[in-house]
Amino acid sequence: MSATYFKYIILGGGVAAGYAAREFASLGLCPGELAIISKEAVAPYERPALSKAYLFPEGAARLPGFHTCVGSGGERLPPEWYGEKGIELILNTLIVKVDLAQKTLESSSGNIFKCGTLIIATGATFIKLTDFGVQGADAKGIYYLREIDDADALIEGIHEKPGGKAVIVGGGYIGLELAADLIINKLDVTMVYPEPWCMPRLFTAEIAAFYEGYYQSKGVKIVKGTVATGFESDASGHVNLVKLKDGRELSADIVVVGVGARPLVSLFKGQLEEEKGGIKVDSFFQTSVSGVYAVGDVATFPLKLYNENRRVEHVDHARKSAIQAVQHIKATEEGKSIPEYDYLPYFYSRSFDLSWQFYGDNVGDSVVFGQTDPSVPKAKFGAYWIKDEKVVGAFLENGTPDENKAIAKVARLQPTVESKEALCASGLDFASKIT
Ligand SMILES: Cc1cc2nc3c(=O)[nH]c(=O)nc-3n(C[C@H](O)[C@H](O)[C@H](O)COP(=O)(O)OP(=O)(O)OC[C@H]3O[C@@H](n4cnc5c(N)ncnc54)[C@H](O)[C@@H]3O)c2cc1C
Repeated sequence: MSATYFKYIILGGGVAAGYAAREFASLGLCPGELAIISKEAVAPYERPALSKAYLFPEGAARLPGFHTCVGSGGERLPPEWYGEKGIELILNTLIVKVDLAQKTLESSSGNIFKCGTLIIATGATFIKLTDFGVQGADAKGIYYLREIDDADALIEGIHEKPGGKAVIVGGGYIGLELAADLIINKLDVTMVYPEPWCMPRLFTAEIAAFYEGYYQSKGVKIVKGTVATGFESDASGHVNLVKLKDGRELSADIVVVGVGARPLVSLFKGQLEEEKGGIKVDSFFQTSVSGVYAVGDVATFPLKLYNENRRVEHVDHARKSAIQAVQHIKATEEGKSIPEYDYLPYFYSRSFDLSWQFYGDNVGDSVVFGQTDPSVPKAKFGAYWIKDEKVVGAFLENGTPDENKAIAKVARLQPTVESKEALCASGLDFASKIT
């Protein structure tokens, strides 16, 4: 079969693809030059909406309302926009084979695509309990969440079991956001996670105590320090029981699993350099293969601020890395150069009426300031992380846009501190005085 040629192909149709397409269009693109190939059935959208407003029982977010690039306050790009710009959206197309040297891609139905420049934006997928051989984990009624189809399946599951018992496996941000969604949907929700507190990769014990207290006040039950080791099902194969390692058993009508993600890099194995589980790129998101870029969740990139290579699964980075790669492609064509990527890690989450933002690095000592009593309405509190007497990370719950900007500045500038006590006492004032 002959190959369909495009000057540029973006493999993957998620967040990074949407922002890359917008950047291509703004820097100048001729009709027919760019194709986005995605196994999803819809144009790029803001993925974080899936574990937030998409699952609300009323006033839920629906496409086309959250196509990229609305998530960062930009223009929403519905499917028609791609047509108007002459960008080919090749949807429902799973790429199963890639030859990076030839820049050819083969789909599951045997179609061949070829390009001059390839941007890999395949993102990540959820880790499944069946991957660890957890007994009964393939039962009906056990859900995961990455794509819109997963969210639709979960909504159907919620509708099938009104008022039922839901068990959330995993205490990360996906588990926390989903627990909130399911309580709002009037399910009886229990969270199970092995760690001593939720979000252990970011939260300190004190921060976590606030969120756990708040969730419990909303009716979420929390079982910590143990894991799901097996599931039982009814005669129709639908899950009805979660067995825990500590011997306890939880009845369940629905199980939702959020135990982490893994980057989708297997298509490229042996064809390019990898590092830290991702595709190794330089500051312009070029891989070790000429004319091949990798952006978003799959890229392990130089994080200039910390002088080390990292891979991050944050939507802000997916957007910015995509823009950086496209700017580099276009600048190179014009014989120009662009500045290196200089990313400040930024991550956020929202659930119930809570909303937090985190900037920088959560290493070293930490101090918490403000109101951490979850029974206080609209409590505002934060934390700083201090390494080598410098503030390297900052967290804020319930911050205003200006306050969030101020903590971002702290994490970027890394001011020195006199003492932990002084920092704790000055709290947000410390951030607002940084210029
Ligand atoms: C439910 C959920 C909530 C989130 N909430 C937040 C949040 O609150 N804050 C935050 O910072 N981050 C959040 N994230 C993370 C954020 O969404 C990701 O970091 C971001 O989507 C990464 O963008 P990407 O373009 O690299 O990958 P993705 O957006 O995942 O896009 C990858 C695309 O590639 C396609 N694809 C993969 N393999 C193939 C193939 N072989 N053939 C064809 N197509 C393929 C996929 O179908 C998908 O369309 C959340 C993620 C999820 C799943």
